[in-house]
Amino acid sequence: MEENIIPHNFSITQQQRSDLKNHKPLLVWFTGLSGSGKSTIANALEKALFEKEIHTYLLDGDNLRKGLNNNLSFSPEDRTENIRRIAEVANLMIDAGLVVIASFVSPYREDRENAKRIVGYDNFVEVFVNTPIEECERRDVKGLYAKARAGEIENFTGVNAPYEAPMAPDVEVDTTVVSVDEAVVLVMNEIKKRINN
Ligand code: ADP
Repeated sequence: MEENIIPHNFSITQQQRSDLKNHKPLLVWFTGLSGSGKSTIANALEKALFEKEIHTYLLDGDNLRKGLNNNLSFSPEDRTENIRRIAEVANLMIDAGLVVIASFVSPYREDRENAKRIVGYDNFVEVFVNTPIEECERRDVKGLYAKARAGEIENFTGVNAPYEAPMAPDVEVDTTVVSVDEAVVLVMNEIKKRINN
């Protein structure tokens, strides 16, 4: 079927949409263990960008797994599909001109590489929230580590499923060393280089 899909040439280009917003689009991808601090930093980052009149949207497990991806489990195949769909959604939002912030455990290196391929390497900033598992587990924000240790959750990253750390992230933060505000500054510095604002 795919050979019969011929894209229409629409009048308004991505460049024009960006020009209207006065900044380039970007995908800022947070990866790390559950409880590492991805959503907390992502949320503070979106507030900081919003104050600078940058057009943003935040994608995370709640708004994706409850809707578009509600038919996916945490098996390796479904995790791959989860990340692929998120990257495709982010790609549309990049086309719309937004700075998209994605906050997902995304434990597989190959899946994150695939996300980079989908949106284009220049449009991708990888943020590794590298908080030690002992601290994530101590926080146990959602009580999931306790459940996983009790054998009540299959495929829980860090307990009974692997996490493949990024080899060369654009930004790396350990939240036992860096505060939320400091992490936002580090990510913001990387964003500023990319969006010409
Ligand atoms: P994730 O999205 O990675 O699962 P969350 O952001 O939901 O993690 O939870 C991280 C927890 O750690 C929050 O309760 C947050 O308040 C706490 N925390 C403590 N210090 C930091 C820090 N420096 N950066 C981010 N989160 C922190």
